Amino acid sequence: MAQTHGQPLRTCIGCRLVAARSELLRLVKDPTDASCVMVDPRRRLPGRGAWLHPDQACLRQAVKRRAFHRALRGPVDASRVDDYFSTSVPATFGAGTVQVESGLEI
Ligand SMILES: [Zn+2]
Repeated sequence: MAQTHGQPLRTCIGCRLVAARSELLRLVKDPTDASCVMVDPRRRLPGRGAWLHPDQACLRQAVKRRAFHRALRGPVDASRVDDYFSTSVPATFGAGTVQVESGLEI
């Protein structure tokens, strides 16, 4: 697996660019509803994950090309990821400098 300076790299399912794991949001299937995708803010939930820039443009691309279906092996509803962006991510979020992991739990 490709690594740079010990940083694990992942591919954003939206724009398909490779980025450090820490710069991407981890998305997983909701364990209670396999047709829904949810954000895994701590990147710790078990199961298959998909990776996405914390950017609505990337989410749109992923939805458009049905990348969730491929990454998570099945039809999935990404509306909760959309909600996550509209409620939790400030418009200025980006560049990996914002702490995503604090204060965003519902
Ligand atoms: Zn992206």
